[in-house]
Amino acid sequence: MTAHFNAADYEVWFLTGSQDLYGEETLRQVAEQSQQVAALLDGADAVPFRVVWKPVVKDPASIKRAMLDANSDDKVIGVIAWMHTFSPAKMWIGGLQALDKPLLHLHTQANVALPWGEIDFDFMNLNQAAHGDREFGYIEARLGVPRVTVAGHASDTRVQERVGVWARAAAGVHATRSMKVARFGDNMRFVAVTEGDKTEAEARFGVQVNTWGINELADAVDAVAESDVDDLVDVYMTSYDVDAELFPGAERHESLRYGARLEVGLRSFLDAGGFTAFTDSFEDLGALRQLPGLAVQRLMADGYGFGAEGDWKTAVLVRTAAVMGDGLPGGASLMEDYTYHLEPGNELILGAHMLEVSPSLSSAKARLTIAPLGIGGKEDPVRLVFTADPGPAIVVAMSDMRERFRLVANVVENVELPAPMPKLPVGHAVWKPQPDFYTSATSWITAGAAHHTVMSTQVGLDVFRDFAALSGVELLVIDNDTTIPGFEAQIRSNAAYYRLSQGL
Ligand code: MN
Repeated sequence: MTAHFNAADYEVWFLTGSQDLYGEETLRQVAEQSQQVAALLDGADAVPFRVVWKPVVKDPASIKRAMLDANSDDKVIGVIAWMHTFSPAKMWIGGLQALDKPLLHLHTQANVALPWGEIDFDFMNLNQAAHGDREFGYIEARLGVPRVTVAGHASDTRVQERVGVWARAAAGVHATRSMKVARFGDNMRFVAVTEGDKTEAEARFGVQVNTWGINELADAVDAVAESDVDDLVDVYMTSYDVDAELFPGAERHESLRYGARLEVGLRSFLDAGGFTAFTDSFEDLGALRQLPGLAVQRLMADGYGFGAEGDWKTAVLVRTAAVMGDGLPGGASLMEDYTYHLEPGNELILGAHMLEVSPSLSSAKARLTIAPLGIGGKEDPVRLVFTADPGPAIVVAMSDMRERFRLVANVVENVELPAPMPKLPVGHAVWKPQPDFYTSATSWITAGAAHHTVMSTQVGLDVFRDFAALSGVELLVIDNDTTIPGFEAQIRSNAAYYRLSQGL
């Protein structure tokens, strides 16, 4: 479950292109067979949204009308287009220029096998996507339409999975366009990479990023009813391995109650304002008695975006990753490259934060504990401590490069702890980066990628690639194919591309 996002509320539309030349009988078959293709995708487990077939479009007016209808329907997160026959592509210009939702071009056909013994020219007339989709591809390329192209039969699980990847990325686009980020306080003083152009973020991604005074949140926290605190403490006691000193009646129980109060207050403030992501700053806590730790961790586990030290760009990524991974095992969390194990050949990165790592990265029962925070000058905060599950993961950062946003992704593998860390009082992950530590860290730093990231253990590089393509944002990838010279060459060519592709 992802807070304020229910996959059952959303759908993608399946549009089939044809033309009037073929006669009633052929168009009847086009309609029937395109419904079968749409049904294959609709029924596929890998496609997390309903796929809704729409009547076959055959002329510029009906194409444009279908696109405008898709734009205006809030349920629609994307459009799939397939040219079953030949659909002359000038008919699509107005519609493609109007379309404002993520597009997938499905290059498929109704039949799997050619009917070798039976094939005649009627069959050829009906089943000509092999060139009908090439005509469509030309106009997409000529117009520069952001899209994802998928080729193969719709019954092929590889095709279904590829469509599912696009659909998750389209949900990410939906997430950014509907996202309101509440910033409590400004960025950490003097920090560069967490800065950014909030106006450009709204123009590029659709996110609204605005600031609220921390004491408005503190007022909401103070207004929480004791009975709500009681109820949430009961949840904590059954959900986590709670340290004895935090038990009801024990010496530090009041700190746990304040942690619960923070969670109820934060959640009510966010929900009242329609916020799905937020930031705070340890330098600006106003009347709050603790830096929110447990509360932020639990909100991230529910799918809210969060960035520490005012880092709204990472908050956007955490929320987006949570929506894209909806329904999959694992989670999305703020992460920070913290410190290294530099044993030659077995280099590892220990990622964590002061407090705010999401327990959704771990399937084990977290420990709920309290410890001092070296900075901020407030009371000791309560927090969850756990180790992220071993397995594949990705870390993605967003930097503002002044004339554009840059995403940098590193494909990584979370590993078992080589040894227990009984004295580390924060949630954490330990990972091996692709292709190796030296190439990963050198490339990351060369790209100016941030120290804050989102770590997702739900979705991989393929979903982030589609999200970047559909959002028109730069993505630099560090994975097993990366070499340092190749990565540097990519940065240089991107610098030219993204500057030359600016409008007037
Ligand atoms: Mn930080």
